[in-house]
Amino acid sequence: MRTGVYWHDLFAKNSWPVIGNKFKNFPKAMEWALKIEGVKLYTPTKVSWETLKKVHTEPLLENLKKAWYCEGALYSVGGCIEAATKIVSGELDNALVFDVGAGHHAGPSHAWGGTYVSCTGPTVVALREKFGAGRYAILDTDSHHGDGTRAVFMGDRDVLHVCFCSHNTVEDEGTKICVDVGYNTNDQEYLRHVEKEFVPRVEKFKPHIIFHLLGHDTARGDYGDRGLSESFFLELVKMVKRCAQKVCNGKYMIITHGGSREDLAEYIFPNIIEILARPS
Ligand SMILES: [Zn+2]
Ligand SMILES: [Zn+2]
Repeated sequence: MRTGVYWHDLFAKNSWPVIGNKFKNFPKAMEWALKIEGVKLYTPTKVSWETLKKVHTEPLLENLKKAWYCEGALYSVGGCIEAATKIVSGELDNALVFDVGAGHHAGPSHAWGGTYVSCTGPTVVALREKFGAGRYAILDTDSHHGDGTRAVFMGDRDVLHVCFCSHNTVEDEGTKICVDVGYNTNDQEYLRHVEKEFVPRVEKFKPHIIFHLLGHDTARGDYGDRGLSESFFLELVKMVKRCAQKVCNGKYMIITHGGSREDLAEYIFPNIIEILARPS
């Protein structure tokens, strides 16, 4: 497989809002995985303000400009756009994109919770500008509800958003779904929820690509603890990769999200690269 890894050295140099300095030992922590055949490391460039203006209001962007974490967030969104463009054009099969300061709590005019600009909103805008109209699926397995992502795409029925959180809702003609996985779950039960609530929907929806907002705050001992083990995250990626192979020619992009456990980040992300890069 041709697997892209989008990483900027700035991500290791700060303690970021909510997630802390879990990336402080990267890229060294994933050195072995970067040597696997087909894996390529990319340094992202910043997303343009012009692209961000198509998703966010002026006041939100003015606040972002003044914040110390702005640069990290701009590189994160830039990495998402570059990786997604390469996957959709066929240059890459899949990718892991490291992300700080950007993500699923950023809506058009309101952002909080460690994510101050949207990552999938600008990515979908950029993909449609380059490739024309298209359908996109977003799987959110961070512990918290993806309120910002939901607000960005509400009314856009060419975007499927399936969020595993603490709500049970089906909105926007079945394209915006929340599934309550409970706080006392386990690996098998959570995987069954994904198999039952995400897989059939995405098979029917037929997106160009699956974006996966992969928070590990659901892990035991992390700040959104739902009782999941370390190996859960690897099993989840294997399941979604198989699903992407069936529905969109393997086009699958993982964006890191919540979670502050360094040991867990250092364990799961190199192993996830290996799973993405392995044939099958
Ligand atoms: Zn979270
Ligand atoms: Zn939700």
